[in-house]
Amino acid sequence: MMRLPQFRYLAPRTTGDAVKMMADAGPDGMFVAGGTDLYPNMKRRQQTPRTVISVARISELQQCEGDGNGGMRIGAGVSLTDICEDPVINRDYPVVAQAAGLISTPVLRNMGTIGGNLLLDTRCNYYDQNYEWRKGVNFCLKKDGDTCWVAPSSPKCWAVQSSDLAPVMVALGARLRFLSSRGERIIDTASLYNDDGINYLHKRHDELLAEIHLPPRGRVRAAYEKLRRRGSFDFPVLGVAAALEFAEDGRVSGARIVLGGVAPAPIEVSGAARELVGNSLDREQIAAAAEASYLKARPLDNTDFAMNWRKQMARPYVSRALERIQTSL
Ligand SMILES: Cc1cc2nc3c(=O)[nH]c(=O)nc-3n(C[C@H](O)[C@H](O)[C@H](O)COP(=O)(O)OP(=O)(O)OC[C@H]3O[C@@H](n4cnc5c(N)ncnc54)[C@H](O)[C@@H]3O)c2cc1C
Ligand code: SF4
Repeated sequence: MMRLPQFRYLAPRTTGDAVKMMADAGPDGMFVAGGTDLYPNMKRRQQTPRTVISVARISELQQCEGDGNGGMRIGAGVSLTDICEDPVINRDYPVVAQAAGLISTPVLRNMGTIGGNLLLDTRCNYYDQNYEWRKGVNFCLKKDGDTCWVAPSSPKCWAVQSSDLAPVMVALGARLRFLSSRGERIIDTASLYNDDGINYLHKRHDELLAEIHLPPRGRVRAAYEKLRRRGSFDFPVLGVAAALEFAEDGRVSGARIVLGGVAPAPIEVSGAARELVGNSLDREQIAAAAEASYLKARPLDNTDFAMNWRKQMARPYVSRALERIQTSL
């Protein structure tokens, strides 16, 4: 049985106290929400904070406000189950509820939060192992070692961004509000992610994710498709988020196609968007966007399934996401 290491546990009631505690804890502190990612990582000694600051009792992080007309603010501490069941999210941003419902299992969705999901650690077959296994291969670049076993000549870690909601939030153009003892900042979700499996977030360690801001729904339709081995639960080894905006005449006026699970950061396929914008959403355009996504997807051999097959799956999964939007029109 894997045990947690010893650590100091703090449970503030306000964001002000939380960021102050983090400033006091310094680089050895980490926030925790549901703990469904952090605690297993601590048991495997992948992440080893000495002070863990829980955000679970901060009521201001549990609120959802607004709707699709004016935009919506979702507290980072809202559970995935509550996201799945929220009537306004289901009505105005159904893709968010649908993608949240594909994450892990019902029990884990009761604990796991939307904020923790967006800040999930990157994953790799050589990293998501217990300490003894990793020691047996002399560790790897991401933690305690100096070689990447996936690409030994690479100076970079290729561990994979594996959050289901990250590509969805990038496609929707959501913004994120962070707090720290130095103040607040609001950024586009797309700019949060860094294409490096070790430094995978453009975020200081002391920043608390407070809210996710969804833009007004407007004339946007969106869909998410997930490839995984077991339909009951598994991390995505390919996630396709598509968000299309439609003009009055029914043509596509804006498009974002984002691939998750194939690189250390969500990958936006601008070539797919170019195939769609200015046209009606028909079979030819869908095929062209799917081809552009296939060319852009370059998964490595560090998650489930053969990497070439995962690359090939970009075509049908992008097609399915776009066809789903087509049938919703
Ligand atoms: C068996 C299993 C299957 C899973 N399947 C999936 C899956 O299919 N898809 C998927 O996307 N995920 C999956 N997960 C991962 C995880 O359960 C979810 O991503 C969940 O949403 C994480 O949320 P959490 O609140 O538990 O995060 P935590 O573990 O609490 O935190 C995750 C990270 O975010 C940081 N953090 C959390 N909240 C904040 C905050 N407010 N501000 C700053 N930092 C914060 C923590 O420091 C940590 O680094 C799975 C996990 C398990 C164990
Ligand atoms: S991609 Fe390489 S460095 Fe990164 S976790 Fe995997 S083996 Fe380690």
